[in-house]
Amino acid sequence: MIPPAFEYAAAESAGHALDLLADYGEDAKLLAGGHSLLPMMKLRLAAPSALVDIGRVGELAGIRSDGDDLVIGAATCHADVAGSALVRSDAPLLAYSAAQVGDPQIRHRGTIGGSLAHADPAADLPMALVALGGSVEIMGPGGSRVVAADDLFTGFFETSLQPGELLSAVRVPSRPGVPWGYQKFVRRANDWAIVGVAAVAGRVALANMGPTPVRARAVEQALAAGAGPAEAAARAAEGAEPGEDIHADRPYRRHLARVLTRRALEQAQAGPAA
Ligand SMILES: Cc1cc2nc3c(=O)[nH]c(=O)nc-3n(C[C@H](O)[C@H](O)[C@H](O)COP(=O)(O)OP(=O)(O)OC[C@H]3O[C@@H](n4cnc5c(N)ncnc54)[C@H](O)[C@@H]3O)c2cc1C
Repeated sequence: MIPPAFEYAAAESAGHALDLLADYGEDAKLLAGGHSLLPMMKLRLAAPSALVDIGRVGELAGIRSDGDDLVIGAATCHADVAGSALVRSDAPLLAYSAAQVGDPQIRHRGTIGGSLAHADPAADLPMALVALGGSVEIMGPGGSRVVAADDLFTGFFETSLQPGELLSAVRVPSRPGVPWGYQKFVRRANDWAIVGVAAVAGRVALANMGPTPVRARAVEQALAAGAGPAEAAARAAEGAEPGEDIHADRPYRRHLARVLTRRALEQAQAGPAA
């Protein structure tokens, strides 16, 4: 599988990446880890005229504390998020989520920003960001803005990122010791979720239960009203419109959402997971 021809430029800074995007125009795309974009180009599902490589832009990588938030550079790879002592202590659900992505090779190339911008509804990190109530920092020709996770994912593989913009960092609240649960139902070890559930501090998000990662708001309301895991989880599929594929039809996905939500809530109730 050979992708169509494209131009290539390596950005030296975030600002340089924005300039290159502006120079190349709307058909250009950012290249981070390449683990979603390059397969799509090889399958000819994407045919950007130019790739702007941000893989070597140091200012876009790294993890730090900023007040009540943890800030993760968009070009930080999944393995670094999973292995970070800071993330493991302050946002353990995020570290665990990053550790569930693919296999070690993918986790050492794929980036958190790439995963969020790609917006696969079956992916781990978009669901985790929604559950955590995080946000993303976006740089563009008109300046910078912050978008909450709930507003980032707008459709199937679609986000509120505009052409010429760059997702520069991810913010999640620092909450050491907060109870959380994470369940991912897969056919093979390194697969995307057939259905996934992330639960933390009363927020519950689902993967692959609609065109975007979705909040299980009925579950959240039940929890807020004092329901236990089983009672709250029974409402996990309310309002969700999952798709159907070779792995699962709609009723089975709804069943999985209820079962996995109960497990995730019980996991959170039982205390810190491994
Ligand atoms: C075999 C395999 C198994 C996988 N399994 C899983 C899994 O279990 N769970 C899971 O969640 N994911 C999985 N993935 C996907 C993996 O996490 C990807 O690395 C990730 O989705 C994309 O990150 P990337 O850095 O490789 O992005 P790229 O492929 O480089 O880019 C993806 C898209 O995001 C855009 N983009 C990249 N960075 C930015 C940025 N900073 N700002 C704006 N736009 C940007 C690109 O232009 C492109 O459109 C798997 C991938 C493979 C190949």
